[in-house]
Amino acid sequence: MRLGVLTSGGDAPGMNAAIRAVVRQADALGHEVWGIYRGYQGLLVGDMAPLPSRACANILQRGGTMLHTARCAEFYEAEPRARAAGKLREAGIEALVVIGGDGSFRAAETFQREHGVACAGIPGTIDNDLSGTERTLGFDTALNTAVEAIDRIRDTASSHGRLFLVEVMGRSSGMLAVHTALACGAEAVLYPESPDDSYEALVTRLNANWLRGKRSSIVVVAEGDTVGRAMAVGERLKRDHALDLRVVVLGHIQRGGSPSAMDRIWGSRWGAEAVRRLDCGESGFYLGEVAGALVAQPLSRILEPQPVPPGDLGRLIAILAR
Ligand code: ADP
Repeated sequence: MRLGVLTSGGDAPGMNAAIRAVVRQADALGHEVWGIYRGYQGLLVGDMAPLPSRACANILQRGGTMLHTARCAEFYEAEPRARAAGKLREAGIEALVVIGGDGSFRAAETFQREHGVACAGIPGTIDNDLSGTERTLGFDTALNTAVEAIDRIRDTASSHGRLFLVEVMGRSSGMLAVHTALACGAEAVLYPESPDDSYEALVTRLNANWLRGKRSSIVVVAEGDTVGRAMAVGERLKRDHALDLRVVVLGHIQRGGSPSAMDRIWGSRWGAEAVRRLDCGESGFYLGEVAGALVAQPLSRILEPQPVPPGDLGRLIAILAR
């Protein structure tokens, strides 16, 4: 069998581990893998080439994706998807491993349904916002990167007795923000799914901290759907309360860097498992982790609502910030 592998949507540390495992597990089973470059964009124009085992040397420990990635507006349309299916047929590729987030899986689900291409998904996004899995590649690394950055900010915040608003990524999900806030002992966290996600609730919390004698605070702000939210909240706090505060947007620093051991381990496990299942004739699934176990979900499950950060974590952050 000839398999294609692509990475799509936002890049995430651990994608390379998954690519390597796809290629080498396929090799072990006597299959051939082609790399498709720049996600669905590359698929549309036939930007693909054989990816031998040796081409995957020394990528396990590297962030980003050796196959490059892209967002592709055309893939939302039926006609370009038909063209993409033609490119796969021309290359003799019978099955496709898609490493990406929920958008990439929606595309794979539609693509398989319309054109009968066997698709398998591996979750790769720093947002950890996919239904059916408690882990996605890149989340653990991004979390550790954000925590390390905030530890540094904490030093200067406490030295100057200042308030810092630190914006983290996550798109519409507060997963990264909540876990970062808990791990770095933040005084508060603003994230879209929280019942307390309001300016007023934040002011109340900061006032209570001040009365308890806290002179420096870190507030983690999820970017939400409006990147730059921390800046807007900071401006408002300065105007209303004349606070000496600073805003830090961690930005793309969170995406890059060497994948954590867990992201390498799950990238390797999922990459190999995707190939083993395709080899057995399975398709239309994506892999995940639930309660520590490797699981497979039907691709259609990606249409379910995205998971929300556990409410008890938000409450714990408040309790521990006393
Ligand atoms: P992610 O996979 O990280 O969630 P996106 O949501 O940007 O990133 O999706 C990646 C790409 O997948 C899009 O640029 C588009 O080409 C394709 N895609 C996403 N959603 C759909 C959809 N509903 N139908 C067809 N293609 C889609």
